[in-house]
Amino acid sequence: MSQERTVIRGGLVITAADEVHADVLVEGERVVALAATGSPAAQAWDAERVIDATDCYVIPGGVDAHTHMELPFGGTAASDTFETGTRAAAFGGTTTIVDFAVQSVGHSLREGLDAWHAKAEGKCAIDYGFHMIMSDVTQGVLKEMDVLVEEGVTSFKLFMSYPGVFFSNDGDILRAMQRSANNGGLIMMHAENGIAIDVLVEQALAAGHTDPRYHGEVRRELLEAEATHRAIQLARVAGAPLYVVHVSAEQAVAEIAQARDLGLNVFGETCPQYLFLSTDNLAEPDFEGAKYVCSTPLRPKEHQAALWRGLRTNDLSVVSTDHCPFCFVGQKELGRGDFSKIPNGLPGVENRMDLLHQAVLDGHISRRRWIELACATPARMFGLYPRKGTIAPGADADVVIFDPRRRYTMSAATHHMNVDYSAYEGRQVTGQARTVLSRGAVVVDGGEYLGHAGHGTFVPRATSSYLL
Ligand SMILES: [Zn+2]
Repeated sequence: MSQERTVIRGGLVITAADEVHADVLVEGERVVALAATGSPAAQAWDAERVIDATDCYVIPGGVDAHTHMELPFGGTAASDTFETGTRAAAFGGTTTIVDFAVQSVGHSLREGLDAWHAKAEGKCAIDYGFHMIMSDVTQGVLKEMDVLVEEGVTSFKLFMSYPGVFFSNDGDILRAMQRSANNGGLIMMHAENGIAIDVLVEQALAAGHTDPRYHGEVRRELLEAEATHRAIQLARVAGAPLYVVHVSAEQAVAEIAQARDLGLNVFGETCPQYLFLSTDNLAEPDFEGAKYVCSTPLRPKEHQAALWRGLRTNDLSVVSTDHCPFCFVGQKELGRGDFSKIPNGLPGVENRMDLLHQAVLDGHISRRRWIELACATPARMFGLYPRKGTIAPGADADVVIFDPRRRYTMSAATHHMNVDYSAYEGRQVTGQARTVLSRGAVVVDGGEYLGHAGHGTFVPRATSSYLL
């Protein structure tokens, strides 16, 4: 391990807690000190490498707690590999992802986790961890949960949707929650009533409603809210904390807000697509709407205000991407003539930090809240803090020098994700990562990739900092 010293001079250091004009000293892979810019202490540092951050923000690398690289889905697989997806993440100022290993029905958690380790090992540009998707809750699997928590896989995702694939019934969900209440794991829930949705899908197709926009119509807001409510009550019965992923409907936010008002350990996550896109995109003609098919679905524009409000009041406390890209040509097209066959998912791992910075400029959130939602809280939620998610002595030197004035247009022609379209094509944003360090190594600088596959390592996680 190199103990090379790097000093980042002259920037505005922004964390969830503070904004200070400070220089940052990095030694090897860690941040070792901060000192006021121009102070004798900072001036006395000598280093092999000096990075000038004048007029820039110096922020913790983004922590994206919800990605699906290479996820098999609907007879195809997400188009970003761990190699391409983590490189794109780095370009976008994200230096840690937590991806989802999948247990398939009839197999153990161990088999699923081993398979995902094999996909990621030696491939990643940035550090990564895993959540575990549980598709088959047996007595053996419940015991395995304890072992995974010990190994640093401390969160488990269950689905109330996708009958026949990932779906768990209420009894299985309750058992998994009871187990997590004892072992310190955190249950993450895809909260949509998939049994009811499948009836509406069948009816829509029978009526000849095959276009992508019907994906949004059958996955009703009330069926997200109902499942969210049910998940919360099951968690209460189990005495377990709960993290609801990709909240998109105003009524689901209301369920989470109500639970939090009762003092329950219930947390909500939303994603940029729900904040910046809507059913208008799903309704785009010539099958273009397929680009925006994901679950939970995009909602009518009116829901966005409730999501922004939730992000300000902390009823929603994390913004992750649910990055799960499928190319328009050859993948999304599997659903021409039948919206239910469109692979579910959107690309976004490269766009999240910049879109949320744009939200700062648009007056939705403060700068520190930007860092809290995108770096600090996801790190705390999933047991990565303070190694990730902040800039402080002892933390990993995952640092982004962010140019808040750089204007650019998001486009598939210039992005680094391995997918043939951008969900934000043509959108102008202000602010972009200029220089990105991952554990002290510069992996991106001025639009150039300087990292390598295999720099990123698996990070075993502690249990959530938010457990009571
Ligand atoms: Zn997901």
